[in-house]
Amino acid sequence: MKYLDAFRDREVAIRLLERIGWLATEASSPMTFMEVCGTHTMAIHQHGIRGLLPTGIRLISGPGCPVCVTPVGYVDHAVALARREDVIIATFGDMVRVPGSSSSLHNEKARGADVRIVYSPLDAVALARKIPEKKVVFLGVGFETTTPTVAGAVLAAQSAGLDNFLILSAHKTIPGPMAVLASDPELQVSGYICPAHVSAIIGPAAYQPLVDELNVPCVITGFEPLDMLQGIEMLARQVIENRPRVENQYSRIVRADGNPRARAIMAQVFEPCDATWRGIGEIPASGLRLRDAFRAFDAARQITVDIEPPVEHPGCLCGEILKGKTTPRSCPLFGTICTPEDPVGACMVSSEGTCAAEYKYGV
Ligand code: SF4
Repeated sequence: MKYLDAFRDREVAIRLLERIGWLATEASSPMTFMEVCGTHTMAIHQHGIRGLLPTGIRLISGPGCPVCVTPVGYVDHAVALARREDVIIATFGDMVRVPGSSSSLHNEKARGADVRIVYSPLDAVALARKIPEKKVVFLGVGFETTTPTVAGAVLAAQSAGLDNFLILSAHKTIPGPMAVLASDPELQVSGYICPAHVSAIIGPAAYQPLVDELNVPCVITGFEPLDMLQGIEMLARQVIENRPRVENQYSRIVRADGNPRARAIMAQVFEPCDATWRGIGEIPASGLRLRDAFRAFDAARQITVDIEPPVEHPGCLCGEILKGKTTPRSCPLFGTICTPEDPVGACMVSSEGTCAAEYKYGV
């Protein structure tokens, strides 16, 4: 904890809170800041940040949990693939329990489907090499932090001459929904607590259009309590000064140019496409699909399955929660019918989900 303690210092936190309190009194109207990243959502709950803020500053959670924003139709597609005898589904653990229209990968596994949890896309490549008689489909779910590693796995499979490693891509990029939500008059987002990990890849410049076109303050913020308080203080200051800009509170990790190498490998393998976000709907050019040169690795193009039109659980409010328009406790299923042990919606499944965070840390 030696290094973490410096970012959890009580005296510094008190001074930051005093400054935030003063800024809140200077503002002409209440401020609403959206944290876009699921890890921030968890950290804000864990450290009780909301409860420390003055009444004039409200935090709302956004669409930054990749599992949560992946639409039901994608889960249905994965379920249909899992039902094929010649397919092994390889995925990170959270996706297994996300409910689809009528089943989940967890249910399919219980019925005999070959669904395996992996810890890296390269584990799935190794699986494909080990079991050449099966098609190994890796579920490509994640933002700019995850996608470069998946791109690397595709290149590794290509180098190894594997023809049984495939990706079902639901990769997404984060600035698109930020622009959509910043334009939503119902939300009135005063500023964004920009994601830390994603920013380490895309760099601060990726948020400049939000400032130039929508006048939204943006602060890339770390995950420790003092990081988050300082990020909020920087946002509030931008609002008071009426001078929106992109600032980087997390400069100890996020470089001015992000990670060009990771972006290059991502661009080599993937290209932008329109994508559907749970709750938000389709956002142009906010998804990533495999380029034609890599179509041999694209499960969506290589394996035909029948998929019924997707059906959301009628009582689940995940869509509204992912837009910051409501909170987990407003959902009548929260904590009763929907729990982490028996989730109804993706926001309760994921370790970064807003409902899971509220369930774990809410009081
Ligand atoms: Fe959906 Fe469960 Fe959250 Fe309600 S509590 S919004 S059902 S995930």
